[in-house]
Amino acid sequence: MVQSLMGDRIATVGLATLTLTGATRMPNFVLRVGKRSEKGLRTNNEDNFAIDLDRQLFVVADGMGGQERGEVASGMAVEIILRVVQARLATKEAPDEVVRQAMHEANAAIVESGQMQPEGRCMGTTAVVALQHNGTVYISNLGDSRAYLIRGCDVHQLTVDHSVAQALVASGALTPENARFSPYQHVLHKFLGCADLHSAVEVHPFSPQHGDRLLLATDGLTNHVSEEDLRIGPNLYPDPQEWIDHLVKKALANGSRDNVTGVVIVFEKIKA
Ligand code: CA
Repeated sequence: MVQSLMGDRIATVGLATLTLTGATRMPNFVLRVGKRSEKGLRTNNEDNFAIDLDRQLFVVADGMGGQERGEVASGMAVEIILRVVQARLATKEAPDEVVRQAMHEANAAIVESGQMQPEGRCMGTTAVVALQHNGTVYISNLGDSRAYLIRGCDVHQLTVDHSVAQALVASGALTPENARFSPYQHVLHKFLGCADLHSAVEVHPFSPQHGDRLLLATDGLTNHVSEEDLRIGPNLYPDPQEWIDHLVKKALANGSRDNVTGVVIVFEKIKA
């Protein structure tokens, strides 16, 4: 059975429907998943997400361009990434290469779609992807949607934003604190829909441990919750759905005027 969820639109291929908060088995872990996407104060929701519980594949995307184009771009990203990963995994290709190719194929399709827009109006989206395969999780991102790993009391940001502000921090021209208020914070130099990605998409693996929490989220969430919120959340909200509900509500209460989207995955070791 395959199930994918794109935003609040559910597409089911197979025999039955899984609940997102329901547990699903993998070789050594049970994964528990929570998800939420809110339009917030915007007139439409350009964020999108997709979950394939059978393949342990998770995608969050944040469309850019306004009006309908951002929504279309993020929808294309989650649909193409899911489809390409599913197809390539079936051929036993290496999982990191599978994720990389899925990102490149989504980029090419969105570039092509953007070129058909009137007067060259561009179309783009971020994407952050997590694929669990044989006990390893592969993470990839383009743009400024992020992946965080919360392990015990430690919060690790697994992705680097492809924003101009982050590039200035990396070069030493800007401090991380000043980057938060930089006008370049939201200017992206890499995203899906880039005519030239300059280099291959990066894919980084990690080995999950019992109790790990993985958060994939758009900047409407990550800009409005603190690292401390991420650190203390698992103790206060053991249920992943309750936790992501809390984080989204907190981001909106803290003044997020953006779409707010997050997916939480909890790794629980199967007891022998
Ligand atoms: Ca956003």
